[in-house]
Amino acid sequence: MDSSRLEERHVMVKEQLEKRGIRNPWLLQAMLDIPRHVFVPPDDRDKAYEDGPLPIGAGQTISQPYIVASMIELIEPAEAHRVLEVGVGSGYSTAILSRLVKEVYGVEREASLMAQAEKRFKELGIHNVMVRQGDGTLGWEEEATFDSILVTAAAPKIPKPLLRQLKVGGVMIIPVGGRAEQELVRVIKRTEEHFQEKTLYGVRFVPLIGQEGWAS
Ligand code: SAM
Repeated sequence: MDSSRLEERHVMVKEQLEKRGIRNPWLLQAMLDIPRHVFVPPDDRDKAYEDGPLPIGAGQTISQPYIVASMIELIEPAEAHRVLEVGVGSGYSTAILSRLVKEVYGVEREASLMAQAEKRFKELGIHNVMVRQGDGTLGWEEEATFDSILVTAAAPKIPKPLLRQLKVGGVMIIPVGGRAEQELVRVIKRTEEHFQEKTLYGVRFVPLIGQEGWAS
């Protein structure tokens, strides 16, 4: 693992994550270990540990470190879990997840971003991540069901295929709302027919574009 800029990551973890209540020790360790600067464009590396999102090309963004940590903490990752991530983007949140669960299945709409993310996983020696280019609003049928689902783009409504592909007892975290502003929603699948939803806090994500998302 790339240990450069470790001091900047220490400050990020302490000031942005611990002080805001992130407690999962394995998650905090993963945020310390995974070099966020590798996941941003070379010209933005000096900003990689700042408290905000950054552009990653193709009109997309890498989320604020706190939001990445908070969403991952909320899916309650466990060592044996198989997790679906919709919106791989730079691959940063996928890489953090890969340290906490058995397997991560990631879907990304933009081929160019997916190719860069795959290259980073290889360079960092991450082998438990499977990614594919496509419409993640449809999930990943062949690999379903999943212990949890993390959606990192904003949906107008919760995509039905994702509800189907979640295990009973599983958790999905997804931003739901308008194109500019959304609420982060936690869905727990109690039975095949019963889903318990809770609105958590306001967020701003790029749109989830696809068959069960925004049209464009
Ligand atoms: N998790 C990412 C990271 O750590 O860099 C941030 C993701 S970015 C906020 C949202 C991503 O969702 C973008 O890369 C975008 O291309 C992707 N996206 C949008 N609609 C999608 C869809 N239907 N299926 C898969 N990916 C989608």
